Amino acid sequence: MKAHWKLLATASAMTFALACGSVAQAGPVSMDDILNDAKTTADVVTNGLGTQGQRFSPLKTINKDTIKGLVPAWAFSFGGEKQRGQESQALVKDGVIYVTGSYSRMWAIDAKTGEKIWEYEARLPEGILPCCDVINRGAALYGDKVYFGTLDAKLVALEAKTGKVVWRKEIDDFKAGYSYTAAPLIVPSKHGALLVTGVSGGEFGVVGRVEARSAETGETVWIRPVLEGLMGTLLGKESTMTGKANETWPGDLYKTGGGATWLGGTYDAETNSLFFGTGNPAPWNSHLRPGDNKWTASRLAIDPDTGDIKWGFQTTPNDGWDFDGVNEVVSFDLAKDGKTVKAAATADRNGFFYVLDRTNGKFISASPFVKNITWAKGIGADGRPIYDPANRPGDPSKSTDGKKGDTVYSVPSFLGGKNWMPIGYSPDTKLFYVPSNEWGMDIWNEPITYKKGAAYLGAGFTIKPLFEDYVGSLKAIDPATGAVKWEYKNKAPLWGGVLTTAGGLVFTGTPEGYLKAFDAASGEEVWKFQTGSGIVASPVTWEQDGEQWIGVASGWGGAVPLWGGEVAKRVKFLNQGGAFWAFRLPKNLAAK
Ligand code: CA
Ligand code: CA
Repeated sequence: MKAHWKLLATASAMTFALACGSVAQAGPVSMDDILNDAKTTADVVTNGLGTQGQRFSPLKTINKDTIKGLVPAWAFSFGGEKQRGQESQALVKDGVIYVTGSYSRMWAIDAKTGEKIWEYEARLPEGILPCCDVINRGAALYGDKVYFGTLDAKLVALEAKTGKVVWRKEIDDFKAGYSYTAAPLIVPSKHGALLVTGVSGGEFGVVGRVEARSAETGETVWIRPVLEGLMGTLLGKESTMTGKANETWPGDLYKTGGGATWLGGTYDAETNSLFFGTGNPAPWNSHLRPGDNKWTASRLAIDPDTGDIKWGFQTTPNDGWDFDGVNEVVSFDLAKDGKTVKAAATADRNGFFYVLDRTNGKFISASPFVKNITWAKGIGADGRPIYDPANRPGDPSKSTDGKKGDTVYSVPSFLGGKNWMPIGYSPDTKLFYVPSNEWGMDIWNEPITYKKGAAYLGAGFTIKPLFEDYVGSLKAIDPATGAVKWEYKNKAPLWGGVLTTAGGLVFTGTPEGYLKAFDAASGEEVWKFQTGSGIVASPVTWEQDGEQWIGVASGWGGAVPLWGGEVAKRVKFLNQGGAFWAFRLPKNLAAK
């Protein structure tokens, strides 16, 4: 069967080369290419511009002096009537761009001309259950294949040259609420190159897990459920249990207990650790789940060889606000007391920016990165939130009619101080760049029972802006002190990732349609370009023929228009779209 595929692939690649003449063709991606991605400037072969997820490029041709010469080179339409949110980070290899789009589509595009090389569109069944828009966050490259996950909870490996399907694997049953939207991750292991993924579907009573497959064949190597009491597997046999059954979660509720690993993960080669975050416990009513409910709303370090958990850190024990702990863990070196600490930082939905020791998960610090936080009085020296019981949504069983618990006003809202949109770190400025939102919510609990494939929230809510003039806020945060060095305020909520460069710049997009660049040290806005629809994706940069390029997907959507309450009303004038924009700084404008 395998040989047959290879024959087919060779034949179609040849036909293709004859038909298309000079269109770019990408060579294979090696594990070295992946592990060195953060340093190499001609390509972007990982989500996060490096598996550590710093989103930092050493390119500096585009800087605050030259950026006025940055011009659009081309725009590529995602076509059809299928628009909605475009949250994909593109990959670039040998002059070919791979970008995914809404409704589980992917394109290979010639990076110089913007011409389409191939297009893949998953045939999605009726009845898929995407909670928060039909988005996709990007692909993974390895060898001669490009991989992505689809909204019906399947993984697809395509031949990178042709877009032809090599294999397709089911992650789980979409009818039970599973879906897939994150960029998969390729990592080295004793078992060869692994394709590592989580699961989406956190609001449908799914159970979170991380799993590794052979990148070559798609066969499962290990599975790590993230909820305590559940057994992992390694090479088809039971391996170790996650935690201890009922230690922090009495009863049986954990069996449909959430912890969805829906944002994917990062990988740190220095400690050989996968870092994955886990979503909220289900249902939302925390009074039904006394205890910490491990490992929901947590960060986990996982051994890629065994799938065992090396350490866990829980940001919101006994979460009652939908503060998914999925946000990306970004490795960096922290100078502290004259030493260099192998640290990692993460900006949580709950509004606190955490710094951990990534070798052991030890808490180093936490500081609020949004204003007026209500749900906790602060974070203690042990890293646990200091709760104010008066600010926890009430128990419906204690209400007079048993139907609605006491409503509380909570900051941040459940869409988070930060949601999915990835942060960046510059080793030059030693600052993190965090796209955040300033908003609150009225939230209350209602009775709920689990039903397969149905929303499993048991809560009601209305999101409200905190300030009249803005919701979005891009912040530069010093991880050594937690201090906010600068802030850019945006009227609409920010929902796209950042890119930072050795040119001293930070790029991010706005729902109003602009791709913007800021001075990384001062926060001064130095450039902007209107792309015609809102940007909720993460920009990338690469070098091509001696020039620096910037690329970003444009297309407004995501969770805000669907769940944003009063904030959604405030931004309902924004138009959908679907395009990839490429910008270049022509050589003659790249003044020295
Ligand atoms: Ca690279
Ligand atoms: Ca959630």
